[in-house]
Amino acid sequence: MSGSQSRRQAINAVTGYQVPDKDFTEPLGELFGRNTFSPAVMKSRLPKSIYKSVMSTIDKGAPLDPAVADVVASAMKDWALENGASHYAHVFYPLTGLTAEKHDSFLSPEDSGTSMAEFAGKTLIQGEPDASSFPNGGIRNTFEARGYTGWDVTSPAYILENPNGNTLCIPTVFISWTGEALDKKTPLLRSQQAMSKQAARVLALFGHTDIDTVVSYAGAEQEYFLIDRHFFFSRPDLMSSGRTLFGAKPAKGQQFDDHYFGAIPERVLAFMIEVDRELFKQGILAKTRHNEVAPGQFEIAPLFEKANLAHDHQQLMMTTLQRVAQRYGMECLLHEKPFAGVNGSGKHVNFSIGNNNQGNLLNPGDTPHENAQFLVFCAAVIRGVHKFGGLLRAVVASARNDHRLGANEAPPAIISVFLGAQLADVFDQIAAGALTGSKAPGTLTVGVDTLPPFKADPGDRNRTSPFAFTGNRFEFRAPGSSQSISGPMVAINTILADSLDFIATELETLIAGGTEFDAAVQKVLKDIITEHGAAVFNGDGYADAWQVEAAERGLKNLKTTVDALPEYDRPEVKDLFEKYAVLSNRELASRLEVYLEQYALSVMLEASETLEIAKTKILPAAIRYQGELAGAAMNLKAIGMSFDSPTLDAITASVAALTSGITGLETALGIHAGESSMEEAVYALEKLIPAMAAVRAAADELEGLVADDTWPLPTYQEMLHIL
Ligand code: ADP
Ligand code: MG
Repeated sequence: MSGSQSRRQAINAVTGYQVPDKDFTEPLGELFGRNTFSPAVMKSRLPKSIYKSVMSTIDKGAPLDPAVADVVASAMKDWALENGASHYAHVFYPLTGLTAEKHDSFLSPEDSGTSMAEFAGKTLIQGEPDASSFPNGGIRNTFEARGYTGWDVTSPAYILENPNGNTLCIPTVFISWTGEALDKKTPLLRSQQAMSKQAARVLALFGHTDIDTVVSYAGAEQEYFLIDRHFFFSRPDLMSSGRTLFGAKPAKGQQFDDHYFGAIPERVLAFMIEVDRELFKQGILAKTRHNEVAPGQFEIAPLFEKANLAHDHQQLMMTTLQRVAQRYGMECLLHEKPFAGVNGSGKHVNFSIGNNNQGNLLNPGDTPHENAQFLVFCAAVIRGVHKFGGLLRAVVASARNDHRLGANEAPPAIISVFLGAQLADVFDQIAAGALTGSKAPGTLTVGVDTLPPFKADPGDRNRTSPFAFTGNRFEFRAPGSSQSISGPMVAINTILADSLDFIATELETLIAGGTEFDAAVQKVLKDIITEHGAAVFNGDGYADAWQVEAAERGLKNLKTTVDALPEYDRPEVKDLFEKYAVLSNRELASRLEVYLEQYALSVMLEASETLEIAKTKILPAAIRYQGELAGAAMNLKAIGMSFDSPTLDAITASVAALTSGITGLETALGIHAGESSMEEAVYALEKLIPAMAAVRAAADELEGLVADDTWPLPTYQEMLHIL
């Protein structure tokens, strides 16, 4: 099918579009959590003691009593059967960043020839998927190939609906038989625990007594594109690698500002409404929203939750977006940069830490005492970002996100913290030795107890910062749209554990040495901001000057995944994860191995796809049209007319460039890249990516020359605008 044929089909789909008649009369509120085995459902179905035991595991991280599992399993099964489930699945989160499921039937055959529903505690607690197809980075050798899934009590089981039957989904962790983490969930749970322990020490020093488990909260804004499916199926590059490997930039370029907050097309709105309903049923309070910067780009933001839940819900959100889009004849693109030259998609991870008793610890609060505590937690973030900026860059590194980070729309690859004018001023004064005044109304004097209340400043935004304080939380803007939030949250929790540990120890030592509490706090804050203030940057992160200044400040600027991933191998990073029992050195090394492999593989896949499309679609179309023009020239000459075609000349030149590009890419793909995954990754970066770029440049040139009815691929213009 040529590009123009799929355009016709897409136009028909849009113009003939009627919103399907779905029964959406039930109010959203009544749907909320309907498909989840929530604490409320457990309360109504479990004996009181069992319910209490499960809840203390969920809320306080108490070990799960195995005797409890059988009772829960039985109640869960009854609930699932009543809700139309015939199967159950352990859902886990392998290192690919995707969501994996292993489905089993509830029914087991009986001797009598009948079958009956069975679901014991041990089936709930543990599963054994065929794990060999998931990356493990050398942790599992063939002789120890087993991988186990284990029930994650902290995340509610849920029903996944399908017209042909429902499935009970049980969120799990995925570990090797030696207990090593093979997934994205295990370290997230471990990092929460580590952070909580150190935060409690600091809270105790501030005089809190009834200290609840401290958790991190995350709210991840998800950007995505929608395109008509007719286009999608005419773009093998989108189908195989999630992004367009070819495509001239649309004439209008990137300034479709009219799209931002513009009217939402009816089909898209219908899709959004169904997405919201589906997510509501899963207990996810999310709202699909306004158009994003680029045409065809949108955003969905869930209400923040505990990070472990937010993680599972975020994964579910991505699959829901994709599934529901298809029901409406559209494809949801989660890639970080589906269209070159057009705004990319991120996943801004908003986070805070706290609990029910002590509240949000990143909220400035109303009293001087709360302020001081807030400043301490804030300083912990600043110190962590400065010490481990490289790690924060590494956890958002992927071949996909490389197209986005550093481009003039996404945060730069330099990791710095934006504090806003008022907070930056407060820290400046602390660094200068005393707190004497504030940009905000009111007066500050030295001494923690006399710090005035200062209000969050929500109007003060900096969209160019990768790590911005936004009033009562930080927003990590560098993560990519398709990535799991686990990596970022694991890093954040763990660097906070390290900082809070440091702060608690310093305060304890000072106080033991006779320093008064206020003075001790003041000293620790001053030391931190003096040593780590270099990470604070309130200016324009997109400016070239910042690249220079950041280098002078000694901040890292890790431009590509190949530059960033080796951060996992640095001694201080290995020690950090080992010390707080989040990832052992072996687990961390296995992750580095997997991520390098993934980088090399995905670039290689794109390179092969580029070659194939160039050879079998673009070159033939160009040559066909070149022939047509040459034929016209001959005919005109035959009847004595002159033919002077700059187009023919241009096509001939571009065909030559494309042909040589193809040869170059073919050669590059034929060379053995190296023995180690690092060598392969470096080869992909240094050889394959430039070779692909050469092919693309010639092909994009041809797109502007070849007749539209001959051009084989849907164009940017049509994919982005026909919705
Ligand atoms: P933006 O202006 O960036 O679009 P929003 O008000 O849409 O901001 O919020 C973005 C995300 O931040 C939402 O997912 C929201 O739930 C989350 N969020 C709000 N408060 C907190 C908090 N205290 N901790 C973590 N996430 C939060
Ligand atoms: Mg945001």
